[in-house]
Amino acid sequence: MKEFQLIEQFFRDKGQKRRDVHLGIGDDCALVQPAENKSIAISCDTLVENIHFLPSMPAHELGYKSVAVNLSDLAAMGADPAWMTLALTLPDVDNDWLQQFSEGLFEAAEYYSVSLIGGDTTRGPRSINITIHGQVPTGKALTRGGAKIGDWIYVTGTLGDSALGLDILLGKQDVDPQFKEFLINRHYHPTPRILAGQALRSLATSAIDLSDGLNSDIAHILKASNVGAVIDVNELPLSTSLVGSVGPEQAINYALTGGEDYELLFTVPEAQRGALDTALIHAGVKFVKIGQICAGDKLRLVSNGEPFELDLKSFEHF
Ligand code: ADP
Ligand code: MG
Repeated sequence: MKEFQLIEQFFRDKGQKRRDVHLGIGDDCALVQPAENKSIAISCDTLVENIHFLPSMPAHELGYKSVAVNLSDLAAMGADPAWMTLALTLPDVDNDWLQQFSEGLFEAAEYYSVSLIGGDTTRGPRSINITIHGQVPTGKALTRGGAKIGDWIYVTGTLGDSALGLDILLGKQDVDPQFKEFLINRHYHPTPRILAGQALRSLATSAIDLSDGLNSDIAHILKASNVGAVIDVNELPLSTSLVGSVGPEQAINYALTGGEDYELLFTVPEAQRGALDTALIHAGVKFVKIGQICAGDKLRLVSNGEPFELDLKSFEHF
């Protein structure tokens, strides 16, 4: 199959048609109409086989996740998803694989109203690169740089599930069958917090999405905002499946160091806490306060008022 046939069959005129796309797949460039008084938020992510995903990953899940991890970056900025391009590198043309991959990709794209407006197709070791574009009212984007001393630190959802899901897939952990599906699903099927990001635009002072693990991702906020933080590890949101599988202690380690949660971590001043409750209930997302921004430049972990030592050695992810 030639490249253009592949594009016709699996990607062109599929999925969401947005009125702000004047010209989609098929020309040298796509043409889109940005809304008035909006800034364009742009982000890209590459997933390389054997590095970011296992060769055994089902193509449908991979298609979905490729879009979802990009959407998560838009969520962290408070942006509305709009358009994306797809650079696809494949070792061969496998129709079944492409069919399932494109279905997964368009499932995420449809749900979040993103149009696929272009891309590139090449031969080589399997990798997927998506560049996503969103829109955010000018001046309203959430950044990593606005956290202030005294702000409260929150996270959405639950943490650590995805990392345990990966460990199960790698055969490094064996868990009770009743928890397995949920954990693997959390790894394959992240839930980008688009609605939460939108709701946080006028409430949060800073935000980031958790892709590498809370312990390392929060450092980006601390650095960009010139502040420190205290986090109470007993407040971390842990799923029943995570705690039921590995016990409370290891669950905390997973929550602090596990990657690919794609939850939002954000900071909110005391005066906005009431408004936050209403806004996020409206967005339908679970969220919990885990700590506070303080002076300094470090993250301090505490448990029952005592310093908490993170056991990084017994707990290595790659
Ligand atoms: P060019 O050579 O001008 O870069 P191509 O022949 O590579 O264009 O692509 C033709 C059209 O198909 C372009 O509009 C391009 O954006 C689109 N396209 C190519 N690959 C993909 C893909 N994997 N997914 C979506 N659109 C694609
Ligand atoms: Mg061209």
